[in-house]
Amino acid sequence: MDAFLTPFVEKMNLLLQDGINTKRSGRIINVKVLTLCCCVDTVARAEMQCIVGHNGYNCCSWCLIQGENVNGTVKFPIPDDIPRDRTERHYKKCYTLYAKGNKKSNVEGIKGISPLVNLISFRMVWGFVPDYMHCVLQGVTKRWIRLWMNNVDKQYYIGDPKNIGRIDDRMKRIRPPTLLKRLPFLMKNSKDMRKARELENWLLFYSVPVLSGILPGEILKHWKLLVSAMHLLLQDSVPVDTIHEDELLLIEFVCKTQLIYVKGEMTYNVHQLLHLAESVRKWGPLWSHTAFPFENAIGVLKRVVKGARGIPHQVTRSLELKSSREIMMSSGFCGSEVVDFCESITVRDVNKSYRLAEGTFFGKPSDYFDSVDGLQENQTYTQHRKVIRNDVIYERFVDGDTRRFDNSYVELNNGDFAHLMNILLCKETSECHVIIKILNCHAVEGLRHLRIITGIQPEVACKFSMVKNVAIFIDVLSEQYVASVPSCHYKMNL
Ligand SMILES: [Zn+2]
Repeated sequence: MDAFLTPFVEKMNLLLQDGINTKRSGRIINVKVLTLCCCVDTVARAEMQCIVGHNGYNCCSWCLIQGENVNGTVKFPIPDDIPRDRTERHYKKCYTLYAKGNKKSNVEGIKGISPLVNLISFRMVWGFVPDYMHCVLQGVTKRWIRLWMNNVDKQYYIGDPKNIGRIDDRMKRIRPPTLLKRLPFLMKNSKDMRKARELENWLLFYSVPVLSGILPGEILKHWKLLVSAMHLLLQDSVPVDTIHEDELLLIEFVCKTQLIYVKGEMTYNVHQLLHLAESVRKWGPLWSHTAFPFENAIGVLKRVVKGARGIPHQVTRSLELKSSREIMMSSGFCGSEVVDFCESITVRDVNKSYRLAEGTFFGKPSDYFDSVDGLQENQTYTQHRKVIRNDVIYERFVDGDTRRFDNSYVELNNGDFAHLMNILLCKETSECHVIIKILNCHAVEGLRHLRIITGIQPEVACKFSMVKNVAIFIDVLSEQYVASVPSCHYKMNL
Protein backbone atom coordinates (compact mmCIF):
# COMPACT_ATOMS: atom_id res chain seq x y z
CA MET A 1 0.00 0.00 0.00
CA ASP A 2 2.90 2.39 0.79
CA ALA A 3 4.17 2.00 -2.78
CA PHE A 4 0.94 3.62 -4.00
CA LEU A 5 0.20 6.04 -1.19
CA THR A 6 3.63 7.65 -0.65
CA PRO A 7 4.00 9.05 -4.21
CA PHE A 8 0.28 9.96 -4.15
CA VAL A 9 0.77 12.01 -0.97
CA GLU A 10 3.88 13.76 -2.39
CA LYS A 11 2.09 14.71 -5.61
CA MET A 12 -1.13 15.86 -3.93
CA ASN A 13 0.78 18.01 -1.43
CA LEU A 14 2.53 19.72 -4.36
CA LEU A 15 -0.81 20.28 -6.09
CA LEU A 16 -2.11 21.94 -2.93
CA GLN A 17 0.98 24.07 -2.19
CA ASP A 18 1.89 25.13 -5.76
CA GLY A 19 -1.45 24.54 -7.50
CA ILE A 20 -1.90 24.50 -11.27
CA ASN A 21 -1.93 27.66 -13.38
CA THR A 22 -4.77 27.72 -15.91
CA LYS A 23 -5.93 30.42 -18.32
CA ARG A 24 -9.59 31.43 -18.16
CA SER A 25 -11.13 34.47 -19.90
CA GLY A 26 -7.65 35.86 -20.50
CA ARG A 27 -6.66 35.63 -16.82
CA ILE A 28 -4.23 33.21 -15.19
CA ILE A 29 -5.94 31.40 -12.34
CA ASN A 30 -4.05 29.27 -9.82
CA VAL A 31 -6.12 26.18 -8.94
CA LYS A 32 -5.31 24.37 -5.67
CA VAL A 33 -6.17 20.69 -5.38
CA LEU A 34 -7.32 19.31 -2.02
CA THR A 35 -7.81 15.68 -1.04
CA LEU A 36 -10.80 15.62 1.27
CA CYS A 37 -12.78 12.40 1.21
CA CYS A 38 -11.90 8.78 0.52
CA CYS A 39 -14.62 6.21 -0.19
CA VAL A 40 -13.41 2.61 -0.40
CA ASP A 41 -14.61 -0.77 0.90
CA THR A 42 -13.78 -1.99 4.41
CA VAL A 43 -10.81 -4.13 3.32
CA ALA A 44 -9.07 -1.29 1.46
CA ARG A 45 -9.93 1.25 4.17
CA ALA A 46 -8.25 -0.87 6.88
CA GLU A 47 -5.03 -0.92 4.85
CA MET A 48 -5.13 2.79 4.00
CA GLN A 49 -5.96 3.82 7.57
CA CYS A 50 -3.60 1.21 9.08
CA ILE A 51 -6.38 -0.22 11.26
CA VAL A 52 -6.89 -3.92 11.95
CA GLY A 53 -9.17 -5.69 9.45
CA HIS A 54 -12.86 -6.32 10.00
CA ASN A 55 -12.08 -9.51 11.93
CA GLY A 56 -10.18 -7.46 14.53
CA TYR A 57 -11.68 -6.39 17.86
CA ASN A 58 -11.01 -2.65 17.34
CA CYS A 59 -11.60 -2.46 13.61
CA CYS A 60 -14.08 0.41 13.48
CA SER A 61 -12.72 3.41 11.60
CA TRP A 62 -14.91 5.91 13.48
CA CYS A 63 -15.42 4.65 17.05
CA LEU A 64 -13.72 2.56 19.71
CA ILE A 65 -16.31 -0.21 19.98
CA GLN A 66 -14.80 -3.44 21.24
CA GLY A 67 -15.81 -6.48 19.17
CA GLU A 68 -16.86 -9.76 20.80
CA ASN A 69 -16.03 -13.34 19.85
CA VAL A 70 -19.32 -14.98 18.80
CA ASN A 71 -18.94 -18.61 17.70
CA GLY A 72 -15.35 -18.02 16.56
CA THR A 73 -15.81 -14.75 14.66
CA VAL A 74 -15.70 -11.13 15.78
CA LYS A 75 -19.13 -9.45 15.99
CA PHE A 76 -20.28 -6.09 17.28
CA PRO A 77 -23.27 -6.50 19.63
CA ILE A 78 -24.80 -3.38 21.20
CA PRO A 79 -22.39 -2.40 24.04
CA ASP A 80 -23.57 -1.39 27.52
CA ASP A 81 -22.00 2.06 27.12
CA ILE A 82 -21.87 4.17 23.97
CA PRO A 83 -18.35 3.71 22.56
CA ARG A 84 -16.10 6.77 22.33
CA ASP A 85 -15.58 8.34 18.89
CA ARG A 86 -12.20 8.20 17.24
CA THR A 87 -10.73 11.70 16.85
CA GLU A 88 -7.72 13.06 14.97
CA ARG A 89 -5.91 13.62 18.27
CA HIS A 90 -6.65 10.10 19.49
CA TYR A 91 -5.57 8.66 16.14
CA LYS A 92 -2.19 10.45 16.39
CA LYS A 93 -1.76 9.30 20.00
CA CYS A 94 -2.37 5.69 18.95
CA TYR A 95 0.15 5.62 16.15
CA THR A 96 2.74 7.39 18.35
CA LEU A 97 2.22 4.72 21.04
CA TYR A 98 2.38 2.03 18.36
CA ALA A 99 5.75 3.37 17.15
CA LYS A 100 7.08 3.58 20.74
CA GLY A 101 5.96 0.03 21.46
CA ASN A 102 8.38 -1.32 18.83
CA LYS A 103 5.47 -2.01 16.51
CA LYS A 104 4.66 -5.32 18.21
CA SER A 105 0.90 -5.07 18.61
CA ASN A 106 -1.86 -2.73 17.59
CA VAL A 107 -2.90 0.19 19.81
CA GLU A 108 -6.70 0.34 19.96
CA GLY A 109 -6.79 -1.07 16.46
CA ILE A 110 -4.04 1.13 14.96
CA LYS A 111 -1.40 -1.22 13.57
CA GLY A 112 0.88 1.11 11.62
CA ILE A 113 1.55 4.61 10.39
CA SER A 114 -0.26 5.38 7.17
CA PRO A 115 1.51 7.60 4.61
CA LEU A 116 -1.78 9.52 4.49
CA VAL A 117 -1.00 11.20 7.84
CA ASN A 118 1.37 13.43 5.79
CA LEU A 119 -1.37 14.44 3.34
CA ILE A 120 -1.89 18.09 4.26
CA SER A 121 -5.61 18.56 3.60
CA PHE A 122 -6.75 15.11 4.71
CA ARG A 123 -8.22 13.91 8.02
CA MET A 124 -7.46 10.35 9.08
CA VAL A 125 -10.80 9.62 10.78
CA TRP A 126 -13.60 11.41 8.91
CA GLY A 127 -11.57 11.73 5.70
CA PHE A 128 -12.85 8.17 5.30
CA VAL A 129 -16.55 7.39 4.98
CA PRO A 130 -18.60 4.19 5.32
CA ASP A 131 -19.37 3.10 1.77
CA TYR A 132 -23.11 2.76 1.17
CA MET A 133 -22.58 0.46 -1.81
CA HIS A 134 -20.42 -2.15 -0.11
CA CYS A 135 -21.78 -1.82 3.43
CA VAL A 136 -25.53 -1.50 2.84
CA LEU A 137 -26.08 -3.15 -0.57
CA GLN A 138 -23.42 -5.85 -0.99
CA GLY A 139 -23.27 -6.25 2.79
CA VAL A 140 -26.49 -5.90 4.78
CA THR A 141 -29.04 -6.24 1.95
CA LYS A 142 -27.44 -9.37 0.50
CA ARG A 143 -27.01 -10.90 3.97
CA TRP A 144 -30.66 -10.31 4.87
CA ILE A 145 -31.86 -12.11 1.73
CA ARG A 146 -29.68 -15.08 2.74
CA LEU A 147 -31.00 -14.91 6.31
CA TRP A 148 -34.62 -15.18 5.20
CA MET A 149 -33.95 -17.79 2.51
CA ASN A 150 -31.62 -20.18 4.37
CA ASN A 151 -32.71 -20.47 8.03
CA VAL A 152 -35.25 -23.27 7.80
CA ASP A 153 -35.99 -23.45 11.52
CA LYS A 154 -36.64 -19.73 12.03
CA GLN A 155 -39.97 -17.89 12.04
CA TYR A 156 -38.67 -15.56 9.30
CA TYR A 157 -37.80 -18.41 6.90
CA ILE A 158 -39.34 -17.82 3.45
CA GLY A 159 -37.03 -19.97 1.33
CA ASP A 160 -39.43 -22.85 0.63
CA PRO A 161 -40.35 -23.42 -3.05
CA LYS A 162 -43.90 -22.14 -2.56
CA ASN A 163 -42.78 -18.76 -1.16
CA ILE A 164 -39.93 -18.41 -3.67
CA GLY A 165 -42.50 -19.03 -6.41
CA ARG A 166 -44.78 -16.31 -4.99
CA ILE A 167 -41.91 -13.83 -4.65
CA ASP A 168 -40.65 -14.50 -8.19
CA ASP A 169 -44.15 -14.21 -9.66
CA ARG A 170 -44.38 -10.74 -8.11
CA MET A 171 -40.86 -9.76 -9.24
CA LYS A 172 -41.60 -10.83 -12.83
CA ARG A 173 -44.57 -8.45 -12.97
CA ILE A 174 -42.42 -5.38 -12.15
CA ARG A 175 -41.45 -3.22 -15.15
CA PRO A 176 -39.06 -0.59 -13.75
CA PRO A 177 -38.21 2.69 -15.51
CA THR A 178 -35.02 2.64 -17.59
CA LEU A 179 -33.40 4.90 -14.98
CA LEU A 180 -33.16 1.90 -12.63
CA LYS A 181 -30.90 0.24 -15.21
CA ARG A 182 -31.47 -3.36 -14.16
CA LEU A 183 -34.46 -5.67 -14.23
CA PRO A 184 -35.64 -7.29 -10.98
CA PHE A 185 -33.74 -10.49 -10.13
CA LEU A 186 -35.41 -13.78 -9.35
CA MET A 187 -34.85 -15.49 -6.00
CA LYS A 188 -34.52 -18.91 -7.62
CA ASN A 189 -31.47 -17.76 -9.63
CA SER A 190 -27.82 -17.45 -8.58
CA LYS A 191 -27.72 -15.78 -5.19
CA ASP A 192 -24.19 -14.39 -4.90
CA MET A 193 -23.73 -12.69 -8.25
CA ARG A 194 -26.30 -9.96 -7.76
CA LYS A 195 -25.12 -6.49 -8.76
CA ALA A 196 -25.18 -3.60 -6.30
CA ARG A 197 -27.82 -1.81 -8.39
CA GLU A 198 -30.07 -4.90 -8.41
CA LEU A 199 -29.77 -5.13 -4.63
CA GLU A 200 -30.42 -1.40 -4.30
CA ASN A 201 -33.62 -1.57 -6.38
CA TRP A 202 -34.74 -4.50 -4.23
CA LEU A 203 -33.95 -2.65 -0.99
CA LEU A 204 -35.53 0.70 -1.86
CA PHE A 205 -38.49 -0.25 -4.04
CA TYR A 206 -39.38 -3.92 -4.40
CA SER A 207 -38.72 -5.66 -1.08
CA VAL A 208 -41.60 -4.18 0.95
CA PRO A 209 -44.41 -4.66 -1.64
CA VAL A 210 -43.10 -8.07 -2.75
CA LEU A 211 -42.63 -9.47 0.78
CA SER A 212 -45.90 -8.04 2.06
CA GLY A 213 -48.08 -10.95 3.23
CA ILE A 214 -45.14 -13.37 2.89
CA LEU A 215 -42.66 -12.21 5.55
CA PRO A 216 -44.07 -12.10 9.13
CA GLY A 217 -45.37 -8.60 9.97
CA GLU A 218 -42.86 -7.84 12.76
CA ILE A 219 -39.92 -8.87 10.56
CA LEU A 220 -41.12 -6.68 7.67
CA LYS A 221 -41.70 -3.77 10.07
CA HIS A 222 -38.08 -4.06 11.24
CA TRP A 223 -36.80 -4.19 7.61
CA LYS A 224 -38.80 -1.06 6.76
CA LEU A 225 -36.61 0.91 9.21
CA LEU A 226 -33.59 0.32 6.98
CA VAL A 227 -35.54 0.91 3.75
CA SER A 228 -36.89 4.21 5.02
CA ALA A 229 -33.56 5.47 6.40
CA MET A 230 -31.67 4.66 3.20
CA HIS A 231 -34.22 6.35 0.94
CA LEU A 232 -34.13 9.46 3.12
CA LEU A 233 -30.33 9.63 3.19
CA LEU A 234 -30.23 9.29 -0.63
CA GLN A 235 -32.47 12.31 -1.28
CA ASP A 236 -31.15 15.05 -3.59
CA SER A 237 -30.60 17.17 -0.50
CA VAL A 238 -30.93 16.04 3.11
CA PRO A 239 -31.80 18.90 5.51
CA VAL A 240 -29.47 18.86 8.51
CA ASP A 241 -32.37 19.03 10.97
CA THR A 242 -33.88 15.79 9.60
CA ILE A 243 -30.70 13.72 9.77
CA HIS A 244 -31.25 12.94 13.46
CA GLU A 245 -34.63 11.41 12.58
CA ASP A 246 -32.94 9.16 9.99
CA GLU A 247 -30.23 8.30 12.52
CA LEU A 248 -32.88 7.12 15.01
CA LEU A 249 -34.31 4.76 12.36
CA LEU A 250 -30.86 3.23 11.87
CA ILE A 251 -30.22 2.94 15.61
CA GLU A 252 -33.58 1.18 16.02
CA PHE A 253 -32.79 -1.15 13.09
CA VAL A 254 -29.39 -2.10 14.55
CA CYS A 255 -30.64 -2.56 18.14
CA LYS A 256 -33.64 -4.66 17.08
CA THR A 257 -31.43 -6.79 14.81
CA GLN A 258 -29.82 -8.18 17.95
CA LEU A 259 -33.23 -8.87 19.53
CA ILE A 260 -35.04 -10.31 16.50
CA TYR A 261 -32.16 -12.27 15.01
CA VAL A 262 -29.05 -13.42 16.91
CA LYS A 263 -25.78 -11.87 18.10
CA GLY A 264 -24.08 -13.56 15.16
CA GLU A 265 -25.87 -11.13 12.83
CA MET A 266 -24.23 -8.09 14.46
CA THR A 267 -21.53 -7.89 11.79
CA TYR A 268 -19.24 -4.96 11.17
CA ASN A 269 -21.45 -3.94 8.22
CA VAL A 270 -24.44 -3.75 10.58
CA HIS A 271 -22.36 -1.70 13.05
CA GLN A 272 -21.30 0.71 10.27
CA LEU A 273 -24.96 1.65 9.74
CA LEU A 274 -24.62 3.61 13.00
CA HIS A 275 -22.07 5.90 11.32
CA LEU A 276 -23.98 6.61 8.09
CA ALA A 277 -25.97 9.57 9.43
CA GLU A 278 -22.79 11.29 10.66
CA SER A 279 -21.24 10.68 7.27
CA VAL A 280 -24.20 12.54 5.68
CA ARG A 281 -23.82 15.37 8.22
CA LYS A 282 -20.17 15.76 7.27
CA TRP A 283 -20.22 15.06 3.53
CA GLY A 284 -23.79 15.43 2.25
CA PRO A 285 -26.29 12.85 0.94
CA LEU A 286 -25.05 9.29 0.49
CA TRP A 287 -25.04 9.54 -3.31
CA SER A 288 -22.29 12.17 -3.14
CA HIS A 289 -19.77 9.81 -1.52
CA THR A 290 -20.29 6.22 -2.62
CA ALA A 291 -18.13 3.78 -4.55
CA PHE A 292 -20.75 3.63 -7.35
CA PRO A 293 -18.98 6.02 -9.79
CA PHE A 294 -15.62 4.31 -9.25
CA GLU A 295 -17.00 0.81 -9.75
CA ASN A 296 -18.91 2.00 -12.84
CA ALA A 297 -15.75 3.58 -14.26
CA ILE A 298 -13.97 0.22 -13.95
CA GLY A 299 -16.80 -1.29 -16.04
CA VAL A 300 -16.42 1.48 -18.66
CA LEU A 301 -12.66 0.94 -18.91
CA LYS A 302 -13.12 -2.82 -19.27
CA ARG A 303 -15.63 -2.38 -22.08
CA VAL A 304 -13.32 -0.23 -24.25
CA VAL A 305 -10.63 -2.91 -24.35
CA LYS A 306 -11.16 -4.76 -27.65
CA GLY A 307 -7.95 -6.76 -27.93
CA ALA A 308 -4.95 -8.01 -25.95
CA ARG A 309 -2.45 -5.63 -27.57
CA GLY A 310 -1.81 -2.03 -26.55
CA ILE A 311 -4.42 -1.93 -23.78
CA PRO A 312 -3.20 1.41 -22.30
CA HIS A 313 -3.46 2.99 -25.77
CA GLN A 314 -6.96 1.59 -26.36
CA VAL A 315 -8.16 2.98 -23.03
CA THR A 316 -6.50 6.38 -23.57
CA ARG A 317 -7.89 6.78 -27.11
CA SER A 318 -11.41 6.02 -25.93
CA LEU A 319 -11.19 8.47 -23.00
CA GLU A 320 -9.77 11.18 -25.29
CA LEU A 321 -12.70 10.73 -27.71
CA LYS A 322 -15.21 10.92 -24.86
CA SER A 323 -13.71 14.05 -23.27
CA SER A 324 -13.31 15.79 -26.68
CA ARG A 325 -16.96 15.07 -27.45
CA GLU A 326 -18.08 16.49 -24.09
CA ILE A 327 -15.93 19.63 -24.52
CA MET A 328 -17.28 20.24 -28.03
CA MET A 329 -20.89 19.79 -26.91
CA SER A 330 -20.60 22.10 -23.91
CA SER A 331 -18.27 24.77 -25.31
CA GLY A 332 -20.98 26.72 -27.14
CA PHE A 333 -18.54 27.36 -30.02
CA CYS A 334 -19.71 24.47 -32.22
CA GLY A 335 -22.64 24.65 -34.63
CA SER A 336 -25.71 22.46 -34.36
CA GLU A 337 -24.38 20.03 -37.02
CA VAL A 338 -21.31 19.30 -34.91
CA VAL A 339 -23.39 18.92 -31.76
CA ASP A 340 -25.81 16.56 -33.59
CA PHE A 341 -22.88 14.50 -34.81
CA CYS A 342 -21.44 14.32 -31.27
CA GLU A 343 -24.81 13.18 -29.96
CA SER A 344 -25.16 10.60 -32.73
CA ILE A 345 -22.08 8.81 -31.38
CA THR A 346 -24.10 7.68 -28.37
CA VAL A 347 -27.78 8.24 -29.26
CA ARG A 348 -28.86 5.71 -31.89
CA ASP A 349 -32.05 7.12 -33.43
CA VAL A 350 -30.94 10.76 -33.56
CA ASN A 351 -32.38 11.14 -37.09
CA LYS A 352 -35.91 10.88 -35.69
CA SER A 353 -35.32 13.21 -32.77
CA TYR A 354 -35.95 16.92 -32.12
CA ARG A 355 -33.78 18.76 -29.64
CA LEU A 356 -35.58 21.59 -27.88
CA ALA A 357 -35.01 23.53 -24.66
CA GLU A 358 -37.10 21.11 -22.57
CA GLY A 359 -35.51 17.91 -23.87
CA THR A 360 -35.00 15.72 -26.91
CA PHE A 361 -38.25 14.43 -28.43
CA PHE A 362 -38.49 11.10 -30.23
CA GLY A 363 -40.97 9.48 -32.60
CA LYS A 364 -42.70 10.77 -35.72
CA PRO A 365 -44.95 13.63 -34.53
CA SER A 366 -48.65 13.63 -35.36
CA ASP A 367 -51.32 16.25 -34.73
CA TYR A 368 -53.24 16.04 -31.45
CA PHE A 369 -56.91 17.01 -31.61
CA ASP A 370 -58.46 16.00 -28.22
CA SER A 371 -59.71 18.60 -25.81
CA VAL A 372 -58.32 18.05 -22.31
CA ASP A 373 -58.50 20.27 -19.22
CA GLY A 374 -55.36 22.35 -19.00
CA LEU A 375 -54.75 22.79 -22.76
CA GLN A 376 -55.31 26.16 -24.46
CA GLU A 377 -58.13 25.90 -27.02
CA ASN A 378 -56.57 28.50 -29.32
CA GLN A 379 -53.29 26.59 -29.58
CA THR A 380 -52.35 23.50 -31.61
CA TYR A 381 -50.28 20.53 -30.51
CA THR A 382 -48.26 17.62 -31.90
CA GLN A 383 -47.96 14.39 -29.91
CA HIS A 384 -44.72 12.46 -29.32
CA ARG A 385 -43.80 8.99 -28.12
CA LYS A 386 -40.84 9.79 -25.90
CA VAL A 387 -38.80 12.64 -24.47
CA ILE A 388 -35.40 12.58 -22.77
CA ARG A 389 -34.75 15.35 -20.26
CA ASN A 390 -31.52 15.49 -18.21
CA ASP A 391 -30.73 11.87 -19.14
CA VAL A 392 -34.14 10.62 -17.90
CA ILE A 393 -36.50 8.90 -20.35
CA TYR A 394 -40.24 9.64 -20.21
CA GLU A 395 -42.58 7.65 -22.46
CA ARG A 396 -46.32 7.84 -22.94
CA PHE A 397 -48.41 4.86 -21.82
CA VAL A 398 -49.07 2.31 -24.57
CA ASP A 399 -51.81 -0.22 -23.85
CA GLY A 400 -50.52 -3.79 -24.17
CA ASP A 401 -46.84 -2.74 -24.05
CA THR A 402 -44.89 -5.84 -23.01
CA ARG A 403 -41.39 -4.36 -22.91
CA ARG A 404 -39.51 -4.97 -19.65
CA PHE A 405 -39.01 -1.26 -18.87
CA ASP A 406 -41.88 1.19 -18.27
CA ASN A 407 -41.17 4.94 -18.30
CA SER A 408 -44.78 6.08 -18.10
CA TYR A 409 -45.16 6.72 -14.34
CA VAL A 410 -44.01 10.06 -12.97
CA GLU A 411 -43.69 12.03 -9.75
CA LEU A 412 -44.79 15.67 -9.88
CA ASN A 413 -43.12 18.61 -8.16
CA ASN A 414 -46.00 18.77 -5.63
CA GLY A 415 -45.38 15.15 -4.51
CA ASP A 416 -48.30 13.60 -6.42
CA PHE A 417 -47.79 10.58 -8.67
CA ALA A 418 -49.32 10.26 -12.13
CA HIS A 419 -49.58 8.03 -15.18
CA LEU A 420 -48.19 9.70 -18.32
CA MET A 421 -50.71 9.34 -21.15
CA ASN A 422 -49.24 11.59 -23.82
CA ILE A 423 -46.42 14.04 -24.58
CA LEU A 424 -47.38 17.18 -26.51
CA LEU A 425 -45.50 20.06 -28.09
CA CYS A 426 -47.30 23.35 -28.62
CA LYS A 427 -46.76 24.47 -32.23
CA GLU A 428 -47.06 28.15 -31.36
CA THR A 429 -44.79 28.29 -28.28
CA SER A 430 -42.65 25.07 -28.59
CA GLU A 431 -43.58 24.47 -24.94
CA CYS A 432 -43.96 20.85 -23.81
CA HIS A 433 -47.17 19.71 -22.09
CA VAL A 434 -48.06 16.28 -20.80
CA ILE A 435 -51.43 14.56 -20.48
CA ILE A 436 -51.53 12.75 -17.16
CA LYS A 437 -53.86 10.82 -14.89
CA ILE A 438 -53.19 11.66 -11.24
CA LEU A 439 -53.02 8.58 -8.99
CA ASN A 440 -54.98 8.60 -5.73
CA CYS A 441 -52.70 7.06 -3.11
CA HIS A 442 -52.31 6.42 0.58
CA ALA A 443 -49.05 6.03 2.46
CA VAL A 444 -47.42 2.74 3.40
CA GLU A 445 -46.90 2.67 7.17
CA GLY A 446 -43.33 3.57 8.07
CA LEU A 447 -42.30 4.63 4.54
CA ARG A 448 -42.62 8.05 2.95
CA HIS A 449 -41.51 7.22 -0.59
CA LEU A 450 -43.83 4.27 -1.25
CA ARG A 451 -47.61 4.63 -1.71
CA ILE A 452 -50.49 2.28 -2.33
CA ILE A 453 -52.66 3.27 -5.31
CA THR A 454 -56.35 3.49 -4.47
CA GLY A 455 -57.73 5.07 -7.64
CA ILE A 456 -56.99 7.08 -10.76
CA GLN A 457 -58.32 10.47 -11.86
CA PRO A 458 -59.46 11.54 -15.36
CA GLU A 459 -56.98 12.92 -17.88
CA VAL A 460 -55.66 16.43 -17.34
CA ALA A 461 -52.90 18.43 -19.05
CA CYS A 462 -50.03 20.19 -17.31
CA LYS A 463 -46.69 21.69 -18.23
CA PHE A 464 -43.82 19.21 -18.50
CA SER A 465 -41.87 21.43 -16.09
CA MET A 466 -44.29 20.25 -13.36
CA VAL A 467 -42.95 16.70 -13.72
CA LYS A 468 -40.12 16.07 -11.26
CA ASN A 469 -38.92 12.61 -12.23
CA VAL A 470 -39.98 9.16 -13.41
CA ALA A 471 -41.50 6.89 -10.76
CA ILE A 472 -41.77 3.14 -10.31
CA PHE A 473 -45.04 1.26 -10.58
CA ILE A 474 -45.15 -2.04 -8.69
CA ASP A 475 -48.10 -4.36 -9.22
CA VAL A 476 -48.22 -7.34 -6.84
CA LEU A 477 -51.83 -8.23 -7.75
CA SER A 478 -53.23 -7.77 -4.24
CA GLU A 479 -52.02 -4.15 -4.22
CA GLN A 480 -50.56 -1.66 -6.67
CA TYR A 481 -47.78 0.62 -5.46
CA VAL A 482 -45.91 3.62 -6.80
CA ALA A 483 -42.54 4.81 -5.48
CA SER A 484 -40.37 7.91 -5.72
CA VAL A 485 -36.83 7.60 -7.17
CA PRO A 486 -33.96 9.57 -5.56
CA SER A 487 -33.24 11.68 -8.60
CA CYS A 488 -29.59 12.82 -8.27
CA HIS A 489 -28.37 9.42 -7.10
CA TYR A 490 -29.84 7.48 -10.02
CA LYS A 491 -28.85 10.13 -12.58
CA MET A 492 -25.30 10.67 -11.36
CA ASN A 493 -24.40 7.12 -10.42
CA LEU A 494 -25.67 5.45 -13.59
ZN1 LIG B 1 -18.03 2.33 15.06
